Amino acid sequence: MSHTKTFECPECQTSGQHSMEKRVCVNKRPDLKDEILNGSYFEWVCPGCGKRFFIDDVFLYNDDMHKFMVYLIPGYNEDTLPVPTLLKTDDDYDTANSVLRVASGFVDFTEKIRILESGLDDRVIEAMKAIYATVHKNTWAEDVYNILFESIGSEGELNFDVFLEKDDFSFSVPRDIYDKTLEDFAFLRRRQEGDAFLLIDQNWLNNKLSGADDKT
Ligand SMILES: [Zn+2]
Repeated sequence: MSHTKTFECPECQTSGQHSMEKRVCVNKRPDLKDEILNGSYFEWVCPGCGKRFFIDDVFLYNDDMHKFMVYLIPGYNEDTLPVPTLLKTDDDYDTANSVLRVASGFVDFTEKIRILESGLDDRVIEAMKAIYATVHKNTWAEDVYNILFESIGSEGELNFDVFLEKDDFSFSVPRDIYDKTLEDFAFLRRRQEGDAFLLIDQNWLNNKLSGADDKT
C-alpha cells in the first residue's frame, strides 16, 4: 500500500521522491509512530537544498490495541465518512469494534490520537474545552482561539494547551473533573460507534447542544 510521489523543490528545482503508506497499523509498525506524531513522516526533504515540505495527503492511523482509527483527510468538511469497503474486508482493520474518527488537519489528527490512546472520550474532551473557553471569556473578556489536549500527567490530571490570539499557555484539570464531565455529558455518548468515521470537534458539540443534529 506504499505510494510514491515525485516532487520538485520550489526553491532549488531539484526533483525527488517521497514514499509513504496510505494506512498504517501502528501496533505492527511501532517504529513509525514517533515520525507520524511529530509530522516528519509526512515531510519531503529536498535532496538538493535540504528544505522540508509538509505533504498534505490522506492517511489512516489504526491502533488495534486501543481499538481506534483516525483518518486524516486534509480539508474534510462532512460530519461523517462511511467506512470504505476496502477496510471492512481487511482483517487488520477491525472497524466494527473500533472508535472511528476523521480529522481534517494534521493538528487535529495528532490530538485525536493522543486522546484516544489515553483511553479518554473525545466527545467529553470537546465539552471540557467549551466549558473552559466560556469560563475564560467570562473571567478575562478574551476569546480562546483553540484548545488542544496534550497528555495525562503523573497525577492523572489532563493537560491542555490554550491558544489565544497573541498568547498561549497550558492548564491542567484533575481527573475527577473529567469523570464528572463524563457523567454530566453522558447524552453525548449515546450513539453507537463503529458504522462510520465521525468528525468530532467544537462544531459537532455545538450542533449536539443546540439539538440541531439529533441523528448523530
Ligand atoms: Zn531544494
